[in-house]
Amino acid sequence: MEKSKIGRRFEGKVAIVTASTQGIGFSIAERLGLEGASLVISSRRQRNVDEAVKKLEAQGIDVLGLVCHVSNAQQRKDLIEQTVQKYGKIDVVVSNAAANPSVDAILDTQESALDKLWEINVKTSILLLKDASPHLTKGSSIVFISSISAYQPPPAMAMYGVTKTALLGLTKALATEMAPHTRVNCVAPGTVPTHFASFITDNDTIRNSIMEKTPLKRLGTPEDMAAATAFLASDEASYITGETIVVAGGMTSRL
Ligand code: NAP
Repeated sequence: MEKSKIGRRFEGKVAIVTASTQGIGFSIAERLGLEGASLVISSRRQRNVDEAVKKLEAQGIDVLGLVCHVSNAQQRKDLIEQTVQKYGKIDVVVSNAAANPSVDAILDTQESALDKLWEINVKTSILLLKDASPHLTKGSSIVFISSISAYQPPPAMAMYGVTKTALLGLTKALATEMAPHTRVNCVAPGTVPTHFASFITDNDTIRNSIMEKTPLKRLGTPEDMAAATAFLASDEASYITGETIVVAGGMTSRL
């Protein structure tokens, strides 16, 4: 969507987006910011944080940038504390960080890789929400970023897919647990040519075959994911909780 046509659904709201200095997380942050949110962005590297803050501020967005490796308990605590110190509350949390450290079959995956997958893709989302929950406003909204691979984990990223399946369950469970104060939803992106997916999308044959199999005949964009996330996080979705929106150009997505 043209930036000039974007609304102002997040005026007066405070939004945290993890892993948000590039790719899908950055686009989500940008979208929420353009719609009026005060933003807290973060990732592992200070340089990436600084560059992303600059890009957002250049668009008139109110943004606080922090280093936060989601596996680092102190950095997660600081993320929440500094958000509350600066803005006084939290209205939106988008949990976007993920790792995919192995292309092995599940039974060939090293235990250390299994631990990392579980920790970054699932456990740290829970731990961040534990820290955030005392500060979440009435009517607040959580969005997890899962994946189309949650529905049919592909062989080359099977265990990654399984952790993304877990996020669908986590969405359901927390939606019940955090209601009626807070809504919890999820977005499952199709293939988006970011750094994370470059091992797939940089290969012409694989990329073309994915596009061919996708009913809408193209890859997704970070902006496609941001639009769905912003909808779920906004008051326009105020009667939606525990749901996952698949944003994958029509790719098959049912368990
Ligand atoms: P990306 O373009 O590679 O961006 C990853 C971002 O996360 C960067 O800002 C990176 O910055 C940060 N990051 C990485 N590890 C982190 C960690 N442990 N803690 C904090 N920040 C971290 O990736 P993406 O494709 O946008 O992926 C975002 C989400 O979308 C992930 O959950 C992924 O599973 C999901 N997804 C992606 C696709 C796709 O095709 N791209 C499809 C389905 C789902 P630093 O390097 O500075 O940390």
